[in-house]
Amino acid sequence: MRTRITEMLGIRYPIIQGGMQWVGTAEMASAVSNAGGLGILGALTQPTVEHLAREIERCHGMTQRPFGVNVTMLRTVNPPPYERIFRTIVDGGVRIVETAGNVPEEVFRGLKESGVLILHKCTSVRHGLAAQRRGVDVISIDGFECAGHPGEDDVPGLVLIPAAVRALSIPIIASGGIADGRGLAAALSLGADGVNMGTRFVLTQEAPVHESVKQALLRATERDTRVIMRNLKNSARVFANAIAEEVIDVERRRGTQLVYEDIQPLVAGARGRQALQSGEVDAGLVWAGMALGLIDDIPSCDELIERMVRECRSHLSRALACFLPEACLD
Ligand code: NAD
Repeated sequence: MRTRITEMLGIRYPIIQGGMQWVGTAEMASAVSNAGGLGILGALTQPTVEHLAREIERCHGMTQRPFGVNVTMLRTVNPPPYERIFRTIVDGGVRIVETAGNVPEEVFRGLKESGVLILHKCTSVRHGLAAQRRGVDVISIDGFECAGHPGEDDVPGLVLIPAAVRALSIPIIASGGIADGRGLAAALSLGADGVNMGTRFVLTQEAPVHESVKQALLRATERDTRVIMRNLKNSARVFANAIAEEVIDVERRRGTQLVYEDIQPLVAGARGRQALQSGEVDAGLVWAGMALGLIDDIPSCDELIERMVRECRSHLSRALACFLPEACLD
């Protein structure tokens, strides 16, 4: 496949594994890159910049193909040493960075000066336009269906993706709710140059997530996510486990009086990591998007990507067939 994204990033298929806290390790990222997509390490998944440097080196050792590093700049309890993180990424020979959140202009400038390609993830057209003006190379536009932080506008991909395509001139990656070849075909038809997936990649052989958590997510449907932290203007979509329901309960009781400290012990990232690694699915927040409803197996990244590409081709051909005189109507 060839799109503006495959050409710019030097990858075979326009399929990107979005940054995922606690999941974006060298095993995950290299598996996606080796399968022809773009794997992405999570910078904040590593406890220190020294660990990050080692993880980048490990990933270089596991794939000859390009991979990126995600740096999320959202509210967090312990502010990470961002300057050192960016320097470590550049020094580690990584040429693609996925940024997300409130990224200062000088960060974009510094990355550009270092010759890094910037994929900026955002949840609204206006933020995409601002990032384009600041020189980012690609916008990854994240619809309301997505896992993690969907922003506060609640615009789903079916509207957000074409709205972004119409407004922006740089390549667009469609993100949120995509898990199969239908999603890839739809994203390309809406004008995107590629897709980003998180939840789908959690349910692969190579994802560093406990089998029990994978099985719980596999059983889930598109109705099994919850949006929390709305009253803090830091909305987050997570798997509907016991902890998510407990957070909702506290939020309901506290209403507009809610402060972060009311829920902090429940939502702490460390607890989420514990859930993913121990297999106790209710031990902490497990981030997941509505795409859960589209997933019913745990393939290798290679099988997944090859299948998606095959399905995408057949769905696009099927759609094109509507224009043929002998159109198939069943
Ligand atoms: P953490 O333990 O610091 O925070 C847990 C959650 O609480 C995160 O969602 C964070 O945004 C939120 N939070 C922290 N301080 C807050 C405050 N003062 N007010 C409102 N909300 C607050 O973080 P973590 O789970 O270790 O994650 C580290 C970083 O990665 C955070 O910035 C987090 O938002 C981000 N992250 C992003 C996604 C995503 O989908 N983009 C998913 C997981 C984590």
